[in-house]
Amino acid sequence: MTQGYCVKCKEKQEFVNARDDVMRNGRRCIRGACAVCGTGMFKIRGLLEKPPAENVVIPIVSTPDSGSTRRTDSTT
Ligand SMILES: [Zn+2]
Repeated sequence: MTQGYCVKCKEKQEFVNARDDVMRNGRRCIRGACAVCGTGMFKIRGLLEKPPAENVVIPIVSTPDSGSTRRTDSTT
């Protein structure tokens, strides 16, 4: 079975309704939903094949919220 990371469960979960998809930058991914909570999630499969002839430029951009430094506080 295919597993992906569910942001709601905050752990790996099985996919349901998993299907292949290709992102705009040519990367292949799997889209589906979390088997536990049903939250939509996807998993990047990486470039298993070369992107289409029309060369896709993958812009190297940092995440939009790059300003916020995430720290792991153990509050529990
Ligand atoms: Zn989930």
